[in-house]
Amino acid sequence: MTKTERIAEKLNSGVFPDSSELEYLLGDIPAGEEEFLFESARRAARSVFGNKVYIRGLIEFTNFCKNDCLYCGIRRSQSITRYRLTEDEILGCCETGYGLGFRTFVLQGGEDPWFNDSRLVHTVSAIRDEFPDCAITLSVGERSRESYKALKEAGADRFLLRHETADSCHYGKLHPGEMSFENRMRCLRELKELGYQTGCGFMVGSPYQTRENLIEDLHFIWEFKPAMVGIGPFIPAKGTPFWQEAKGSAELTLRLLSIIRLMRPDLLLPATTALGTAAADGRTRGILAGANVIMPNLSPENARKNYSLYDNKLNTGCEAAENLAQLKASMEAIGYEIVTDRGDSPEYINS
Ligand code: SAM
Repeated sequence: MTKTERIAEKLNSGVFPDSSELEYLLGDIPAGEEEFLFESARRAARSVFGNKVYIRGLIEFTNFCKNDCLYCGIRRSQSITRYRLTEDEILGCCETGYGLGFRTFVLQGGEDPWFNDSRLVHTVSAIRDEFPDCAITLSVGERSRESYKALKEAGADRFLLRHETADSCHYGKLHPGEMSFENRMRCLRELKELGYQTGCGFMVGSPYQTRENLIEDLHFIWEFKPAMVGIGPFIPAKGTPFWQEAKGSAELTLRLLSIIRLMRPDLLLPATTALGTAAADGRTRGILAGANVIMPNLSPENARKNYSLYDNKLNTGCEAAENLAQLKASMEAIGYEIVTDRGDSPEYINS
């Protein structure tokens, strides 16, 4: 039995591996062992979800942001063309998406103060009324408990808030002094308490990240028990303080997807746009490493080019919601099926 087989067995039986074992999986393992890891992750995903791949329609509704995260292409200090969609435009995106078969809409944006509680609650309620059989996911950053509560009551089901890193020192190197690790953690805790299907996650290969940090991230996921985890390689964005930094590895991202899948077979785990941007066939390879969610872009054409979190961010081909047929064919070619389904976390369906 290889070392990878032994560690996979441990994960399969619900035991968190030792740091040295995780370090091994994140290091230079033989190609055969890596393939075994991917295959085990696929098996774990299939045991819960069969060959289904869930799709989420991503609506990037504002690129205004009051934050200045050092890695982000829409940070406050960037001089870029700013936009925000009107409620009618957002509803229009949902309508298009609904017609294409999407049953989850993800509203993602910078932290835009214009979308105060009353405006965002209004928009969420409007989507809830018009699309009662759809799930609404928010990815709008750090807000107060009251705000999260009001949005939940208005009809939001899920919330994606990447923790970015589980190490507070590392967090401090990625964010300006006015942002805090404690507040990020407060938000995640409260989202879960309020009953959101909550997603955390991190960038792979963000500046200053060590292998130990990645192990802390895995440990955080283990303890926090999120419903979803979004990970993707860090990709430098022109004009940001990290523009000259090295980009994150797609291969390491795939390895981490598999480990996370083995840790939590029931997790909703997207093959992210950043993974698709960092490697040819990144999304397909993500599914083959154990991911089970894809989030094509439903934003209007002119918004897509301005929601530029990093350089060369994909928004055409299989990334574009209107090319669903192409995405379906690429999934069928590897034995998977895109489904028209809300794709809730099994834990929430059964509770
Ligand atoms: N403002 C919201 C928040 O903070 O959660 C949502 C939008 S934010 C732009 C979404 C995610 O994009 C972040 O959590 C971050 O991990 C990712 N991101 C930002 N810049 C990136 C980069 N240069 N490379 C890869 N991912 C990046």
